[in-house]
Amino acid sequence: MPEETIFRKIIDKEIPSDMLYQDQYVTAFRDISPQAPVHILIIPNKLIATANDIEVEDEFLIGKMYTVAKQLAKQEGIAESGYRLIMNCNSDGGQEVYHIHLHLLGGKTLGKLIA
Ligand code: 5GP
Repeated sequence: MPEETIFRKIIDKEIPSDMLYQDQYVTAFRDISPQAPVHILIIPNKLIATANDIEVEDEFLIGKMYTVAKQLAKQEGIAESGYRLIMNCNSDGGQEVYHIHLHLLGGKTLGKLIA
């Protein structure tokens, strides 16, 4: 079993976060170190350590993460101007917290992502 991360404590509200959404499947909260005017993390409540660990049975959860991201983009007023959704995987991908999360980034023109 993968080890729980700081995100479990956020889901369980054991540590504070600027939480914007929570249901039985997913939780969304503002990134503590925002890289854009809007920087929100959307995570499944279930621990999935990396993108490599996503199973067929998780397909609903992954879809739910995207529909919540879309709703939050609208709520934040960036749906029409645009935004980026990113999931980093493992060290070369820049993953630091091993509980999958979608980064919702927007509120400015984002640079082209090549490397
Ligand atoms: P990763 O590099 O794994 O894709 O992204 C992890 C993200 O989690 C980083 O953007 C980091 O700022 C954010 N983060 C790490 N610890 C905390 C925390 O305790 N609270 C919040 N709100 N964000 C966190």
